Amino acid sequence: MELWYTEEHSPDVKFSIRVDEHLFSAKSNFQRIDIMRSNEFGVFLTLDSLMMVTEKDEFIYHDMIVHVPMAVNPDIKKVLVIGGGDGGTVRELTRYESVLEIDLVEIDDMVVSACRRFLPLMAEKLSDPRVNIFYEDGLRFVRKKEGYYDLIIVDSTDPFGPGEGLFTKEFYGNCYKALNDCGILVNQHESPYYKVYAESLKRANERIRQFFPFVKLYQAHIPTYPSGHWLFGFASKKFDPVNDIKEDYWNNLGIETKYYNTQLHKGSFALPNYVKKLIEKQGKI
Ligand code: SAM
Repeated sequence: MELWYTEEHSPDVKFSIRVDEHLFSAKSNFQRIDIMRSNEFGVFLTLDSLMMVTEKDEFIYHDMIVHVPMAVNPDIKKVLVIGGGDGGTVRELTRYESVLEIDLVEIDDMVVSACRRFLPLMAEKLSDPRVNIFYEDGLRFVRKKEGYYDLIIVDSTDPFGPGEGLFTKEFYGNCYKALNDCGILVNQHESPYYKVYAESLKRANERIRQFFPFVKLYQAHIPTYPSGHWLFGFASKKFDPVNDIKEDYWNNLGIETKYYNTQLHKGSFALPNYVKKLIEKQGKI
């Protein structure tokens, strides 16, 4: 009997992966957590049946959410990661000796323990001595901080369920306040392709623009996310993510990556016209 994981990408589009083994399934206080093994994508995590990360394509997402801001500001030392319980974002951050402190605020400790058990290559660096894990709501956590972080990365689920608060005006305003004068906010910014994701993209972009002088979107192709065309938001108090890239500095670090490179960094901010149109009324991008 064949087992398939299926996610609805739109009311008329479904995406399925053949599953070899259902490794883990549990209901936490926040969401349904499943971990499965597949031939094509290796082991993968879903939350409330929505695709989060797969062993095969996670490098794309984690390269782009971390190395883009890190190539813009070489002085990033204190980082806040909100969500990110699978550990992939933290793993990439720990590759920088310049990073001294990583606060991971993950609402669901069951996600961390499941990923430590079944996705060790992603979660392994959660035990790095620079990492402090706080099991609480990122929306509440960030209210307590002022002018502290160089970088905030919001590696959250989509804007419903526990992740909903991480797409609000209040949250973005508190992220602005929690960042220092050179602060950068990067977030997973949904997708321009299917209606429900495009609408959350627009809303998030409108809200972020109310606080940050520099707001640009960049893109990557992530096969297991709806439509594959996935965007990230780069918001900053001081830096333009393309004009201010420190290309020689980053290349001299010698960090081996499977996806990110500095030419791709610059190219990823060149958006298709339909995406520019989707958000242009909030001002030039
Ligand atoms: N890369 C994935 C994506 O783009 O959808 C996200 C991966 S990571 C597993 C998402 C994490 O965000 C989950 O572990 C979830 O528990 C966490 N999360 C959701 N809402 C949160 C909140 N309000 N505060 C902190 N963590 C939250």
